[in-house]
Amino acid sequence: MVFVTGAAHGQGESHAVHYAKHGADVVAVDVCQDKATVDYPLGTDDELEGTAEKVREHGGEVLTVEADVSSEAEVEAAVEEAIDEFGGIDILANNAGIESMAAATKMDERMWDELIDTNLKGVWLCSKHVGKHFVERGDGGKIVNTASVSGMTGIPTENAHYVASKWGVRGLTKTLALELAEYDVNVNAVAPGAIDTPMVDGMIEAYGEEALSGSEELGGPFNIFDPDEMLESRDITEAYLWLSSDAARYVTGITLPVDAGFTAK
Ligand code: NAD
Repeated sequence: MVFVTGAAHGQGESHAVHYAKHGADVVAVDVCQDKATVDYPLGTDDELEGTAEKVREHGGEVLTVEADVSSEAEVEAAVEEAIDEFGGIDILANNAGIESMAAATKMDERMWDELIDTNLKGVWLCSKHVGKHFVERGDGGKIVNTASVSGMTGIPTENAHYVASKWGVRGLTKTLALELAEYDVNVNAVAPGAIDTPMVDGMIEAYGEEALSGSEELGGPFNIFDPDEMLESRDITEAYLWLSSDAARYVTGITLPVDAGFTAK
């Protein structure tokens, strides 16, 4: 069984559906609620049900759970519910994340906290509770985290909190990989380039394409949002599937860019 966070739409939906195509049962988790500092719509309960329907179409059993990955109580309860329903978890797909924009010198504390709590603390909380289950069960496991090209370099846009969260995910990935190695748990991350999802559509609508490409003063423009270079969620899912498979059994602690060569430049 795979525990997918942020599964109502975007990449999380794609991960849930394609893991099911490969024979997995799915626990589809989403907050199903907008956040105060995020200027675009997050997933809804109807969308989460839509993901569940697609999982069923591919023959997977599915449990939907509304939970906020930044709340330890909600994560712990979701993991317990998942284990009660399916008897155990095999893969954690740590996908949930948010974006927002403000210059570091102008950003308010709430925007910083909300994003770091979701994108970094949320990855730790899910890894903590699913990781504990892997250790107690003694049968290994896989954790795949979502970093970003924003966690491979500085980015000439006004989102220092997002960049910091994704660098943090990479550090967390390496350290968890070492901590959990003796329990046969592989921990890796994927670093996507720009993907056509509700997050990107929403950010473009809220701030405009120019703001997302970054200013010249900061080293832009940064053409990641060029429509010809946009990836699809499926491209990221394929990396998730490989990192969750036996084929990648000796791969742990890495962050795999899937970015059409963006970080090679
Ligand atoms: P999205 O906004 O389209 O979907 C994210 C999902 O996560 C939504 O359904 C949302 O409701 C859910 N979510 C948000 N906060 C949550 C919380 N606290 N608890 C539970 N669920 C929560 O975003 P996406 O583009 O599919 O992004 C998925 C991941 O990929 C994120 O971690 C994001 O930072 C990362 N990423 C995205 C891009 C991109 O270009 N889209 C690029 C690099 C990395």
